[in-house]
Amino acid sequence: MKEKIHLIHPFLLALSPAVFLWSQNFGEVPLREVFPVLFFLLLLYVVAWFFWKIFFSDLQKRAIITSFSLVIVLLFNYVYNIFFDNTVLHLRFRWSFIVIFLILISFIYFLKKSKIDFSHLNKIISIAAGVFILISLAQVSYGYYGIYTSNNKNLYLDTKNNEEVTELRDIYYIILDGYSSSNVIKNVLGFEEIENFTFFLENNGFYIADESLSNYPETLLSLPSSLNMLYLDEPNADRKHFSMAENHKVKDILKSYGYKYIHLGADAFTYFNRYADRNINIGFFSPYQSLMWHNTIFKPIQDITGARIERLAEKFGFLDTRKTQWQREKYKLEKLSELPEEKGPIFAFAHFLLPKGINVFDKDGRYLTEKEAKQNGSIKGYLNQVQYINTGIEKVVNDILRKSDNEPIIIIQGDHGFPFYDNLDIIDNFADPARARELVVPGKYSFPILNAYYFPDGGDSLLYDSMTPVNTFRILFNHYFEQDLELLEDISYTVDSDDETEFIVWDK
Ligand SMILES: [Zn+2]
Repeated sequence: MKEKIHLIHPFLLALSPAVFLWSQNFGEVPLREVFPVLFFLLLLYVVAWFFWKIFFSDLQKRAIITSFSLVIVLLFNYVYNIFFDNTVLHLRFRWSFIVIFLILISFIYFLKKSKIDFSHLNKIISIAAGVFILISLAQVSYGYYGIYTSNNKNLYLDTKNNEEVTELRDIYYIILDGYSSSNVIKNVLGFEEIENFTFFLENNGFYIADESLSNYPETLLSLPSSLNMLYLDEPNADRKHFSMAENHKVKDILKSYGYKYIHLGADAFTYFNRYADRNINIGFFSPYQSLMWHNTIFKPIQDITGARIERLAEKFGFLDTRKTQWQREKYKLEKLSELPEEKGPIFAFAHFLLPKGINVFDKDGRYLTEKEAKQNGSIKGYLNQVQYINTGIEKVVNDILRKSDNEPIIIIQGDHGFPFYDNLDIIDNFADPARARELVVPGKYSFPILNAYYFPDGGDSLLYDSMTPVNTFRILFNHYFEQDLELLEDISYTVDSDDETEFIVWDK
C-alpha cells in the first residue's frame, strides 16, 4: 500500500474542483449541496480508473492518463478559456473538441510507447494535488471557525402581551434584488414610465418610503440585517451572514405565533431554506452545483447536441442556468398568487433576482439569449427587467389583495439599488462622460431603494419616508404584535476601502 500512495492524484484531482469551489464560496454553500457533488466525482473517478485499465496495465501510466482525462472533463471550461478562447487560436467548441481529442490520442500513444519511469512524476503530481486540497479545506475551516467565534446580539421581546394578538394576517416579504428608488430609475437611469408603477402601488393603498436607503450595498449584508432587525458587526463574515439569512429572527418570532413559513428562494444563497415549512423553487441543481456543471465538458456537449438534450433539460428544469433562471422567476410569481389559498397564517419570503441579476427577461417577459442580453448592455437590460417584474408584481398584488380573506401585510423592497459601482460599462451608455463618471461613485446612487408597504388597519401611520429595512420588521411587530421594539437609527453602511474588515457609515 505504502508504495502505491503516490498514485492517489487522480482521486485528489477528481475531488479538487468541488473542494475548491466550496472554499471560494463557503459563505453560501451548505454541506448538503457539497456531498452529492463529491459523491458524483468519486463515481467518475472510479469509472475513469477502470476505463483506463483496458488500455494500461501499468499503474504508473494509468494514474497519469486518468488524471489527464479527469482534468479535461471536469475543468473543460478553464482549459478552453486558457488555451482555445483567449489565444490566437480562438476556436469554437466543436473545433476545440477535435483538437483536444487529437492531443489525447497522441498522449495515449506516447504513454504506451514510453519506457520512462513515471513514479517521480506521479509523486510530484500527488503532492501538488494534496497541497491544493489542504489549502482549500483550510479556507473552508477558517470560514466555519469565523461563525462560532462571533455571537449574535439578542433581541428583547415582550411575550406577556402575546395574548392580545388576536388577528394574525398573512405576511408577504418580497425582495426585488437591486431595485432602485423611482427617483434614481427616473432621473439617473432615464426611465420616466416608472411613475406608472408608483401610481399603481399608491392607488392600491401602499405607502412608499420614497427617501429610503438600503442599510448595506449588497445582498449578503442586507438580507441578514433586515431579517434579524439589527446591524451587522463586521463585513468579512460570509458564512455567518449566510447562516443569519437562513436561520433568521423574523421567522422565529412568527413561528412562535403559529405562522407557516414559505420560502421562495433565488439563484443565490437564498436558494433553499431548511427552516422553512415549505420551499418553492425549481432547478435540479443548486447554484453551486450548476457552477460545477458549467465548468465540465458536459455543458458544451449539451450545447452542441442542441435541441434534443435541450428539451430534456427544459423538462427537468436543470443544466442551463439562464433558462432555469427565466423559468424560476415566472414560476415564483405564479406561486405567490396562489398563496392566499394556503391555510394561514403564512409568512412568505420571496427573493427575486430581478431587476438586478442575469439578464434573461425582455420587458414583456420573453426569454433573452445571451447574445441579445449582451447587446442590450447593463442599463437597458436592467430597465427591461424592471418593466417585466413591475408587470409581474402588479398581478401578484392584485391577486393577493383579491383572494385574501383577511387583509394581508405586503412589503416590497429592494435589498440595495442598481449597483453603479460594479457596472463600469455604463460609461459607454451616456453621452456625457463626466456625468457618467459621477454616477459610478460608490454609494452615491446605489443606496436609494424601492421600499413599499401594504400595512392595513393603521399600521402605515408608523412608517416614515426615510426609513430603512433594518426597521421594517421592528415596526411590523410593534403594530401588529403588540411589541415594544426600539427603532434603530437609520444608517447606511459600506465597507471601508482602507480596511476591509470594518464597516464605515456612508456619508450622504
Ligand atoms: Zn442583491
